[in-house]
Amino acid sequence: MFRRFKDALPTGNSLSAESWDRRHRAIQWLLWAHVVGIYIFGVVAGYGLVHPGVETSIVALFAVAASRKGFTRQERACLATFGLVASSAILVHLSGGLIEMHFHFFVMVAVVALYQSWQPFLLAIGFVLIHHGVMGVIDSKSVYNHADAQANPWKWAAIHALFIAGESVAALTTWKLNELSLEAEQATRMALEEAVEDLADAQALAHVGSWEWNVITDVVSWSDELYQICGVDPATFSPSYAGFMLLVAEDERDAFGKVVGGTLATAADFDENVRIVRPDGSIRLTHAVGRAECDPAGTVTKLFGTLQDVTEKKRLEEKVRHQAFHDSLTGLPNRALFLDRVEHARARQIRGSESLAVLFVDLDDFKSVNDTRGHKAGDNLLVEVGRRLTRVLRPADTIARLGGDEFAILLEEISSIDAATGVADRIMAALTGAEAFSAAAQPVTASIGIVIESPSGVRNADELVRDSDIAMYVAKKRAKGRYEIFDAVMREELSARLGLKVDLQRAIDNKELFLQYQPIVRVDGQGIEGVEALVRWRHPTRGIVPPSEFIPFAEETGLIGQLGHWVLHQACSDAARWQARSSSEHPLRMSVNISASRFCHPNFIEELKEVLAEFPLAPNSLVLEITESVLIKGSEVVSQRFAEVKELGILLAIDDFGTGYSSLGYLRDFPIDLLKIDKSFIDFVACGPEESALARAVVKLGDALGLSVVAEGVEHENQSEVLAAMGCEFAQGFLFSRPVDREEIDALLKNADASLVAAPV
Ligand code: C2E
Ligand code: CA
Ligand code: CA
Repeated sequence: MFRRFKDALPTGNSLSAESWDRRHRAIQWLLWAHVVGIYIFGVVAGYGLVHPGVETSIVALFAVAASRKGFTRQERACLATFGLVASSAILVHLSGGLIEMHFHFFVMVAVVALYQSWQPFLLAIGFVLIHHGVMGVIDSKSVYNHADAQANPWKWAAIHALFIAGESVAALTTWKLNELSLEAEQATRMALEEAVEDLADAQALAHVGSWEWNVITDVVSWSDELYQICGVDPATFSPSYAGFMLLVAEDERDAFGKVVGGTLATAADFDENVRIVRPDGSIRLTHAVGRAECDPAGTVTKLFGTLQDVTEKKRLEEKVRHQAFHDSLTGLPNRALFLDRVEHARARQIRGSESLAVLFVDLDDFKSVNDTRGHKAGDNLLVEVGRRLTRVLRPADTIARLGGDEFAILLEEISSIDAATGVADRIMAALTGAEAFSAAAQPVTASIGIVIESPSGVRNADELVRDSDIAMYVAKKRAKGRYEIFDAVMREELSARLGLKVDLQRAIDNKELFLQYQPIVRVDGQGIEGVEALVRWRHPTRGIVPPSEFIPFAEETGLIGQLGHWVLHQACSDAARWQARSSSEHPLRMSVNISASRFCHPNFIEELKEVLAEFPLAPNSLVLEITESVLIKGSEVVSQRFAEVKELGILLAIDDFGTGYSSLGYLRDFPIDLLKIDKSFIDFVACGPEESALARAVVKLGDALGLSVVAEGVEHENQSEVLAAMGCEFAQGFLFSRPVDREEIDALLKNADASLVAAPV
């Protein structure tokens, strides 16, 4: 209730400073008018010259005080109010309490309401009440001119106050309504201002300026942002069509003028890119759109539109485009751009007569840089290699990073292969010393594949890169740090290998692999010592594939892990079965070939423990055959591996002995049990003392070091005799038996059981 009453009242002080000043000035005029008017009235009414002067001087005093800037607005309003209501009181007094003179009070209250402020307003009402009451008591004739009022001054004071209150309600209502409409007006104005500001902000953000051109009056107006875009100062630059045209880049001015002219003539919209040259010389790329407004007769009266600064946007687009076609690490073109360049070069080439070359450059052992020195070092090295390769080339050549440690180079207009191989040589030379950038000790080398295409060639960019990749792959396989020139045979080989990989995986999964066993016998004819497990592949279309055709490939592709695992299990399972069946005190030995990568694999020892646990097999009846290449690796890992195998009680044999590592020092250093003399030394062993010298030396060496020696590939009786004479203990070869299926070994063992003798090594 109280709140609603309060809400209905005006809040006061709602006047702006400006309108308060204006109203106060008017009220002051009114005060001075009263000073003069009341004085004249007093003289005319017969009070003489002095009495009215004294009374009006009170009003004059308030008028002067109300104009003093030293007082606050509120105080000045109150002083003026005093002056006004004092004038009413004086007039009532000078008129001898004439009742009509009281109307003056009413007028004054209305005037005071002009301040739209509570203090002067309440002051006026309070003054009326107190003046009537107090003066009515002191000197009732000076306030009222009728008998009842003179007899009951407070009653009439209350009646007058009631009228004043009635007037007050009317005044307050106007005042409140004024306030409400003022508020509404202010809210609208603020909303409008905000909208204008928002638009300016949005324009600034989007770098959009707007303009309007009244064609009839030739008045042009621009938004703030448009001045910004054009780099002109709104204080000094007055916009006009001609003025804008001077900002348009000279070479585009005529064309743009025609476009605007077209819109003026046809009222069709325009939408153009236009370059602006600012007065300071800087250039902005802008996008201008315009629209025409016509009168009912169809004549264009107005053009309006926007101009957007798209410089930054274009720059970003350019950057994104650059990123899409360049490698972020080296800044070199990427594969997509390289292929594009090769494609274009091919198109140009067809019209000319020169060949082009694509070089595929792949760093050797880059993975180890990453693994041992960290990715940062790897990145540094790649950046440096990119730099060095660029220096080797002519400016017209293209170099790209295809990914990882692969770079590609396009050489155009080369007259001979020498130009391409020359670049390859220069690249290898340029890489010398690059290792400093990766903090690696290993010198940086690269394998390079080169493909040459003549104008009559038919390969597209993809195919050229693919072929250079194949040549690189061949180079890497033959020996790192060299180049190879592509020929078609390489591709055929590769696709045959790729087909093989799929096949081999399937072979492992589908159990197409099987083992054959070749007996290892005592040269003195005392029976079978053991067998060597040899893997075969029963290929669905190619028939039986020998291991020489897929073991190296399995090693390369990593399939050797699964393959070797299967072989080891199968061999141990068979060996355990044969051993269980035999009554001999010497268990049949099982030799299993182990490739170098498997021998060094971290899980290999676990695998050995697993088979020993799975099959009841005496550990010293299992022989692992490894080649000398394992020893070349000669690292900590290898010697540790040897020790671990020994600890399990398993025997170790060096296969193909004599063909690989020349130093024999390792025979002392590593715990080896057996040497298998390679077939190439056995082939001519019966041809004379010179030809048998090596075999004899190995047998002697074995003797000296306490190692058993096995002669491999014995095919003829005389070879066996010579070996026996030399003191070679064991032999293996077609003379005794070809590698055979497990069933044949079953039979062999049954028959031979009585004569089977196996001595411990
Ligand atoms: P290797 O370890 O030297 O195996 C002996 C090879 O000589 C076998 O060839 C065998 O058939 C052959 N051979 C034996 N006696 C004679 C002979 O009197 N005359 C001739 N001309 N050859 C004889 P195979 O089975 O083709 O194996 C070839 C190679 O494949 C093996 O050489 C071995 O290095 C590898 N290999 C075979 N099986 C496996 C396996 O399971 N794992 C691994 N890692 N390699 C294996
Ligand atoms: Ca072998
Ligand atoms: Ca061998």
